Amino acid sequence: MLQNQQVTVLGAGIAGLTVSALLARHGAKVTLLEQAPTIAEVGAGLQISPNGARVLHVMGLGEAVGAIAMRARAVTLLDGETGGRVARLDLERLRPSGDYWLIHRADLIDALAQNAAQAGVALELNRQVSEVRLGDHAPHVVIAGEERHDAPILIGADGLHSRVRAALNGEAVPFFTHQVAWRAVIPGEAGIDSQAQVYLGRGRHLVTYPLRGGSLRNLVAVEQRRKWAEESWSLTEDDPMSLRAAFKDFAPQVRGWLERIERPHLWGLFRHPVAPRWFGNGAAILGDAAHPTLPFLAQGANLALEDAWVLAESLARYPLSQALQRYQSLRETRARKVIDAATSNARNFHLSGIGRAIAHQGLRTVSALAPERLVSRFDWLHGYDVTAAC
Ligand SMILES: Cc1cc2nc3c(=O)[nH]c(=O)nc-3n(C[C@H](O)[C@H](O)[C@H](O)COP(=O)(O)OP(=O)(O)OC[C@H]3O[C@@H](n4cnc5c(N)ncnc54)[C@H](O)[C@@H]3O)c2cc1C
Repeated sequence: MLQNQQVTVLGAGIAGLTVSALLARHGAKVTLLEQAPTIAEVGAGLQISPNGARVLHVMGLGEAVGAIAMRARAVTLLDGETGGRVARLDLERLRPSGDYWLIHRADLIDALAQNAAQAGVALELNRQVSEVRLGDHAPHVVIAGEERHDAPILIGADGLHSRVRAALNGEAVPFFTHQVAWRAVIPGEAGIDSQAQVYLGRGRHLVTYPLRGGSLRNLVAVEQRRKWAEESWSLTEDDPMSLRAAFKDFAPQVRGWLERIERPHLWGLFRHPVAPRWFGNGAAILGDAAHPTLPFLAQGANLALEDAWVLAESLARYPLSQALQRYQSLRETRARKVIDAATSNARNFHLSGIGRAIAHQGLRTVSALAPERLVSRFDWLHGYDVTAAC
């Protein structure tokens, strides 16, 4: 269905680069419009779980990404204050066949951008779309307030504040979750273990894992608070002293890492509703544009990879309007389930009082007596193969 079909994709993030390459390999002529002057990512880490890794494998990127990522041996939950282990998901032993990667965002974006270029995608940088027009006729966009660009098929991979989403659904008002996240990358220490660690505190938690062979350590620290913070990933720098103060009663190793952070970025966590309409006449949205998620299950990028696969396969195999309906119906239930699970994790990670003691003791017991149960609780998430499901 896609041979020589013109497609315009908006946004060269994980969703946009992936869907562009997949569509181009199906024969489409893809123009990818990105507002940034370069494809450069802020320094931060990503966990790519087996469900997302599967898409990269099928795209032929498994080897390249596997070579630059670290394979996580485990995900470990720890008591934030004592540093003692609460539970360990032993991925190496209990899920040996799935790739659970810890990767620098810039490295994944690089690999996807190279792949898109090889597939023939025409990437245009410095192209900010200021207006999206949908209606009875084929969509068109306006670039920088003046240049009209016709898009017989328009795909919005334009992230949290998507213009295509707004054109399909109207503006949605996100609400502040009363949680903020600090993010930083520091040099790794010798002998750093290839695992993701989650330090659980009262109203706070901190996630950390190594990147680039252990030369770097990624840190994301989340705190519940009343005051609003900007919903932007890289613009708001915070005083490192306020981060250290928020985690001052955490275990010494955590405080040691925080001491080494010079300029943390601070970010307000907002809940955006899942978009009711993911497609319209000739247009569709995917990734954060369709369904932003809180980061407590590390799934936003993984969902974007899954979406990209289903959208490209549907467009390649079915007439346009049928393809777009099929795309939303195959993706929406799963995306909602993942997002709900991420939202519940915010509660589970931040417990206090007796609820915390009971929950931690329960996790310790299962981890010691039936560790496979801890890992199999995530089979629905990590064991899902979108390339087989569609
Ligand atoms: C703290 C934190 C940790 C996370 N950790 C993980 C993790 O471990 N694993 C995971 O899977 N996910 C994680 N995520 C989520 C993940 O980062 C996002 O879900 C994912 O990057 C979304 O990709 P996207 O391509 O949909 O959007 P984006 O990455 O936001 O890309 C959108 C692109 O569109 C461009 N754009 C926007 N508007 C316009 C316009 N008008 N004109 C032209 N271009 C435009 C932007 O410049 C950008 O390049 C995390 C998120 C946070 C906040």
